[in-house]
Amino acid sequence: MAVAGNMPTASFLTKIGKIQSRGCWLCRIAREARGESTDGLADETQSHINSAGCEGMATTVTAAHHSIWRHLYDSMHATQKPKSKLNIVMLDKESNMSTLWRREEFLRICSKEELAEKAQNVEVTIPVKKSQETRYNLDVGSFFVNCFCGRRPDGIAINEAFKIVCILDFKRWTHRDEGIQVLEVKDAEANEQHKSIIGALKATAPEWEFEQINFVVGNRGSVVESDFYTKLKKLDVQEGKKDNFVADHVTQVCKAHNR
Ligand SMILES: [Zn+2]
Repeated sequence: MAVAGNMPTASFLTKIGKIQSRGCWLCRIAREARGESTDGLADETQSHINSAGCEGMATTVTAAHHSIWRHLYDSMHATQKPKSKLNIVMLDKESNMSTLWRREEFLRICSKEELAEKAQNVEVTIPVKKSQETRYNLDVGSFFVNCFCGRRPDGIAINEAFKIVCILDFKRWTHRDEGIQVLEVKDAEANEQHKSIIGALKATAPEWEFEQINFVVGNRGSVVESDFYTKLKKLDVQEGKKDNFVADHVTQVCKAHNR
């Protein structure tokens, strides 16, 4: 019900006076199971319980995200123009900014040391999360480099001939009012999330072009088609295959959410 978006949330129930606390009960159960304090629980809203930020839903939400994105990513490979010079890089569970920079194609962009050096300038501007405070206090010197090395984009495409790198991200939205505005919000969220990757790359390899491409889809399978097509075009997906591509993707989203 939570994934389907038709469960009355605590946030809603307190508004109509049915219960006293707006706190998320899934987070509460997860914390009680770990023997932790249940102070300061997040408000139980639809977007909260459909996000990996909900302690009780994180595993399910993340699994749905990965399975849809995996399918989308495979479809990009399968429908790419035969003559395309764009290399849609295969990523695995271990892929992050540190492990990627052991590979030839990434080392040809810039060295890992130089990249990590520049990344610190962006990382220091990002607020330290509560869950990271212990690590931060333990070793401030290496904290920001480690943060950067652990970052992982959902996907990467490299065009070495034109010196272009695309950082790919996949986001889902759960709001009932689906459309352009949600797209803008999610787009901004994704750009913020990867700003140290893009920022560090731009500062380290100015002769290259770096672009972030965000795919945004509603949990009910809706996409803003014009936006989606523009992005597929940038990734050299064959013109004749894009309609099937989108239809197939929408089916996949609905399956992942049991619709
Ligand atoms: Zn929660």
